Amino acid sequence: MIQSYDLHAHSTASDGVLSPTELVARAAQNGVTTLALTDHDTVDGLAVAKMEAERLQMRFINGIELSVQWEKQCLHIVGLNIEPQHDELQKTIKASEIMRLERAEKIALKLEKKGILGALTAIQNVVGSGMITRTHFADFLVSHFHVDTPQEAFDRYLGDGKVAYVSTTWTPLETAVLAIRAAGGIPIVAHPMRYKLTATRMKKLLGAFKNAGGLGMEVVTGRYNPDEMRILGNYANQFELVGSVGSDFHTPSNQWIELGRLAPLPASVKPVWELW
Ligand code: AMP
Ligand code: MN
Ligand code: MN
Ligand code: MN
Repeated sequence: MIQSYDLHAHSTASDGVLSPTELVARAAQNGVTTLALTDHDTVDGLAVAKMEAERLQMRFINGIELSVQWEKQCLHIVGLNIEPQHDELQKTIKASEIMRLERAEKIALKLEKKGILGALTAIQNVVGSGMITRTHFADFLVSHFHVDTPQEAFDRYLGDGKVAYVSTTWTPLETAVLAIRAAGGIPIVAHPMRYKLTATRMKKLLGAFKNAGGLGMEVVTGRYNPDEMRILGNYANQFELVGSVGSDFHTPSNQWIELGRLAPLPASVKPVWELW
């Protein structure tokens, strides 16, 4: 049987549109044979997703996407095959949860100063106990007609340095990597191209990540780009990191990014699934 991996996806436990059950069902329909759910700073969707995956005879990997701090920059580290309830991981999750709530309150205050009222209450009604992300603020700004698209919400309000931007100090990279390792997981640098690092900074990051105990990096991501894949594959080999593949799926309404629609990992790169 042909194996199809998608090791980066979001559900309503953070800023995805599909519930964990719906996400697994859609992945199965798309022919995914191994799926990881990797919500932002939470493991809350994993148990339900795993049950549905078992019902559909799909392999399920417990995952998470941690927001981390590296030299004043926010990066995302995916943890694959984690033990969700592990103490050290839970500590990191709790810290993020508090930071996210405090940040959300500050973002809402900044929006209020611009005459946009009630964002936090409206968002909390939608997410319940889920993690609040800027995506929720973007959706609020769209649904209340302050902007036309989520992209515009980031460009005008939520993006780095914009009027409702609040800087946050996330968990240090090293701490997050250690927490994932302690929980038996594999730390992976998520979407390395999205940080727009120079080659020098990219190498500095991968070196620091590797030194901290990092094991892998995403080489194949949602938007197919052969040049990117080749460059990332070379970095993976240079730093002796395994390669991962993940769509970073959030919503069916983004036609460019679909579950399981991913190029194969370059043959020269060691796949992350050889580690489990
Ligand atoms: P947060 O982790 O709360 O800062 O939110 C980051 C999330 O916002 C990311 O995971 C993306 O899903 C989303 N996001 C970031 N930048 C943009 C953008 N320019 N347009 C749309 N969504 C974005
Ligand atoms: Mn997201
Ligand atoms: Mn991310
Ligand atoms: Mn993601």
